[in-house]
Amino acid sequence: MELPNSARAVVIGGGVAGCSVAYHLARLGWSEVILVEQHELTEGTTWHSAGFVGQLRSTVTQTKMIMYSAGLYPELTELTGMDPGWRGVGGLRLATTTERVEESLRLAGAGETYGLGLSVLSGAEAKEMLPLLDVRDVRAALWLPGDGWLDPALLARALAAGAEKLGVRIFTGTRVTGLDVVGGEVSGVRLALGAEEWSVQADTVVIAAGAASGRVGRLAGVDIPVVPIKHQYVVTEPFDVPSSMPTVRDPDNIVYFREEGGGILVGGYIRNPEIWDTGHPLEEPRTLFAADMPKFQESWESAARRVPALGRTGIVKVVHGPEAFTPDGEFLLGETAVRGLWTAAGFCVHGLAAAGGVGKIMAEWIVDGSPEYDVFGMDLRRFGGHARSSSWARAKALDSYSKYYDIVYPGEERTAARPLRRSPAWVRHAELGAEFGEKSGWERVNWFASNADPSPEAREAPGGRGALEDQEARETRGDREARPAGWAGRVWSPAIRQECLATRDAAGLFDQTSFSKLEISGHQALMRLQRVCAGQLDRPPGSIVYTQLLNERGGIEADLTVTRLAEDRFRLVTGTAFGVHDAAWLRGHGLDVRDVTSAHACYCLWGPRALDILGTLSDDDLTFGYMRAREISVGNVPVLAQRVTFVGEFGWELYCPSEYGLTLWDALMEAGTPYGMRPAGYRAIDSMRLEKGYRVWGMDITPETTPVEAGLGFAVAKDKDFLGRSALEAAARRLACLVLDDPRQVCLVGEPVRLGGAPASRVTSGGYGHRVERSIAYAYLPAGTAPGDRAEVGVTGTWVGATVVAEPLYDPASDRIRHLPA
Ligand SMILES: Cc1cc2nc3c(=O)[nH]c(=O)nc-3n(C[C@H](O)[C@H](O)[C@H](O)COP(=O)(O)OP(=O)(O)OC[C@H]3O[C@@H](n4cnc5c(N)ncnc54)[C@H](O)[C@@H]3O)c2cc1C
Repeated sequence: MELPNSARAVVIGGGVAGCSVAYHLARLGWSEVILVEQHELTEGTTWHSAGFVGQLRSTVTQTKMIMYSAGLYPELTELTGMDPGWRGVGGLRLATTTERVEESLRLAGAGETYGLGLSVLSGAEAKEMLPLLDVRDVRAALWLPGDGWLDPALLARALAAGAEKLGVRIFTGTRVTGLDVVGGEVSGVRLALGAEEWSVQADTVVIAAGAASGRVGRLAGVDIPVVPIKHQYVVTEPFDVPSSMPTVRDPDNIVYFREEGGGILVGGYIRNPEIWDTGHPLEEPRTLFAADMPKFQESWESAARRVPALGRTGIVKVVHGPEAFTPDGEFLLGETAVRGLWTAAGFCVHGLAAAGGVGKIMAEWIVDGSPEYDVFGMDLRRFGGHARSSSWARAKALDSYSKYYDIVYPGEERTAARPLRRSPAWVRHAELGAEFGEKSGWERVNWFASNADPSPEAREAPGGRGALEDQEARETRGDREARPAGWAGRVWSPAIRQECLATRDAAGLFDQTSFSKLEISGHQALMRLQRVCAGQLDRPPGSIVYTQLLNERGGIEADLTVTRLAEDRFRLVTGTAFGVHDAAWLRGHGLDVRDVTSAHACYCLWGPRALDILGTLSDDDLTFGYMRAREISVGNVPVLAQRVTFVGEFGWELYCPSEYGLTLWDALMEAGTPYGMRPAGYRAIDSMRLEKGYRVWGMDITPETTPVEAGLGFAVAKDKDFLGRSALEAAARRLACLVLDDPRQVCLVGEPVRLGGAPASRVTSGGYGHRVERSIAYAYLPAGTAPGDRAEVGVTGTWVGATVVAEPLYDPASDRIRHLPA
């Protein structure tokens, strides 16, 4: 077969990911797709994989992807006659600690919302299923009937055969040696077939080169932060293990196993993983490393405790191979900084399980512009510029590998490679005992420990603090009473409540310097923004508009504010982690975007005393209206003050050039403290925004939800056309606010919701509202659901009664925001 001179798309890599992407591109009708592989198909990582397919993952999208994959195997068999060797034996996930039992209950609850039919068994029941197990320390076992395993190479070959049937041409022994880029767009690939060289022109190229993806990306000058890490499993000699044996995961003992050839295959996530330190990953076919039994010892001993028969069995095979890991343990999918150059890599030991879903997502993204699922968590653009640093990526990837089987508590913070990005006021936050969290490399204050124990002076200060003294004393001393039950109480402090109440009664000062700030200017700026924003932006300079960017299906791709700084100049403010993504979306729709995040510090001063506090620092007229922006001076600092709020109290976001940031923070703290103002953190913001019903992109609103469904119809312009408008139909479901009967039962995210005893939905975000003293959860429910309707929410295995309520719960008329404080 002759290589062509041009192709509609070139897929680089003949592992399971590349084969799936090629298959799905062809399935969506693309012709002239070629796949190039430097060795034979699957000879990177795929061929030696252990083949486990676990259906339940920690995120909604990953679970959907894996469920999709499971449905694909029969389709492939039918199309190609090749069976990927699927063994639907089911899976057991063992729990030996209280926390792991809680995790199992949470997972079982989540599984119900997907119709996965999971159940929680006792240790004895697990042993009945698999008599080989020693279950003396097993407190529960999650039974996952949809789990199983398959032959990885057969799966990749079946996908490749399917792709070929649909017209894809596959060239093995063909190495990519160069990527051509013209004006920021990919234009072709350069290839080597032995000594022969060849070029193929293409404006769509997908890097699915596994552990070599970083290296291939560099051929075009793009950063794909894949870190090759060694992973190992062993296979024992046969000892009559039945082929019907379910797969087993024993995460407390960092080990997993299944039947293989009448023996057992045992793999493990060791605590001290090792990077494959090479400049040329996968350059040789079928790379394996020498067995490292000392490193595997803990996994093997754990497995032998769990299956005592292993102690009497010899090991006949050790597979120690390379796998592509990423800084946060999530996949790397999407378009790179070079237009038309995509990647599908970084599968962190679940590439087989996800392969079908990966192909589907990538093909939809390339062909239609956006995939059906919300993929932000896997979007290559979730990292900042620091993803270029290999030392950062390596430190993060080693950390996420070594904690692979640890329980991930929502809100828990990882510590590797920190601190990195810091606000000008970081040093002051540290002095005040800030509990920092990390987002996109930024150090952000979750809460100030100093707020947990308010000083007598602060309590007596003007601002009504004294009235709260009894309550505060009760809660700071008697932490146990106030702490939410279960997982919501794990990453928690009484300071959060103090910060919320201070913001309600006096003021809170929040450092939101990490906000992503994008600028768009020029005589076409308004016209182009109007096309992509659902809100009406044609308003006078100084106006602020809250708006969404929609995809063709009406799904929300971004949620931000747009400030018209001048006739032809706009500043967009979006979430810390979303800047790169949102800028790419805008650029993809023809806008020229400048990321000015680093140029401006941002502090939010919110609360009824905010006007008094800022008044002591500024001679400017501060009475300008809600959703308006003005240039003012605060002390000696030039500031852009935006009258917006994300907590439901009067006040401003105050932006200043970064070099003034520390001075502005100090001035605000000095002026505000006598009024009872407190510095406050993101956990207080999250509590207060729930009370006000403010949505968070990536949780409550995503590319899978429309503004109509999300209750954001008020932000959609009726008097203009924009991208996604025609898809905005009447919604069959609506984002609804629930209040739990037991205020100590607090949701985090993903908890199952039942209506009339039947599974209905899952929580998009939840928390405790300190101003309304209620436990709040949001979930999409059928459109007919009305305030007063009853529901149940599964909080760690307990069904808690809940009522659908009218929202927002706090200040529904928004009097506190719109009017100047009395
Ligand atoms: C020991 C071990 C056990 C595993 N067990 C499981 C499991 O049980 N379940 C699971 O889901 N996952 C498992 N995995 C992970 C899984 O195998 C991988 O996620 C998956 O195979 C990755 O597929 P891929 O297509 O991204 O990469 P690969 O299979 O590595 O394919 C990439 C291909 O790109 C080619 N390539 C690279 N550079 C070039 C170039 N310049 N030109 C042309 N071609 C190039 C390579 O030759 C290679 O064939 C395991 C991994 C290991 C190491």
